[in-house]
Amino acid sequence: MNVVTLRNVRKSYGASVALKGISLEIDDGEIVALLGPNGAGKTTTLEILLGLRRLDAGAVVVCGGSPSDAVVRTAIGATPQASDFPEMLRVRELLAFVAAQYPAPADLGSTLSALGIGALADRYVGGLSGGQRRSLALALAFIGNPRLMVLDEPTTGLDVDTRRLVWKQIALASQERRTILFATHHLEEAEMLATRVVVINCGEIAFDGTPAALRQCYATRRLVYVGDPFDPSSYGLDARVTVQAGTVTVTTPDTDAAIRALVAAQVRFTSLHVVADSLETAFLAMTGGSP
Ligand code: ATP
Repeated sequence: MNVVTLRNVRKSYGASVALKGISLEIDDGEIVALLGPNGAGKTTTLEILLGLRRLDAGAVVVCGGSPSDAVVRTAIGATPQASDFPEMLRVRELLAFVAAQYPAPADLGSTLSALGIGALADRYVGGLSGGQRRSLALALAFIGNPRLMVLDEPTTGLDVDTRRLVWKQIALASQERRTILFATHHLEEAEMLATRVVVINCGEIAFDGTPAALRQCYATRRLVYVGDPFDPSSYGLDARVTVQAGTVTVTTPDTDAAIRALVAAQVRFTSLHVVADSLETAFLAMTGGSP
């Protein structure tokens, strides 16, 4: 069933156009990574579907209703990019307050422990470190057992161990067929957790598909072997050949055709293998910038 629908959503901040007409549909159980360079429009997209920003044009439907509807909000858990908490509340109190807004919340102690902050339950929020606050912000998204979780850069500022805990929680939520939409700059995170990757670039969707499809569409592949070089142009191949210490590297979008050409040309080769470029390479090829 459909959980999120954005239809031709436009948003500008004064003269600055953040979203140029984005359309996106997300179904139950999908884990969607939202990727894009700084300023691409990721946070604006998430804030619009959380009802935190008004759209200029288009339509947004979340869990069958408007994100500003109180009932719809009880189906959503969110971790914004930056969070301001009441400093004088204890961690346990803040979590209990948020849990009380949901019909079937998770257990408070287990939620804190799962994110590695079980020992902080009685600490004042004001005394938490930056990373601990981030973990608390994530606990607030998970505590309601919501149908949809919207996480803006969930692991930014977390140490390696805590990041792993968050990954584990997202994987568990995925097994429970919950829906998660998360923005990230960490491509390995997208590749490891997401069933679907949506790339936003300059306020437009530049790609929407599986991590494997992203790599296949945009990445070049390399054919590597030990042996004699060959001339790909005489076989009509779009390829670049380099030779280093007897190892030949053929960089091409079509390694299958390169292998056929190699065999047809009766080139001497051993240790032939294909190297697929990483998701990061594909991403850079598409956005022409940094993750
Ligand atoms: P990042 O990866 O840096 O968090 P992002 O993809 O989340 O970036 P957004 O925060 O959605 O990008 O910003 C999209 C565009 O809208 C940017 O050009 C940004 O400068 C602009 N923008 C965002 N919020 C505001 C605002 N409150 N006022 C003016 N411009 C804004």
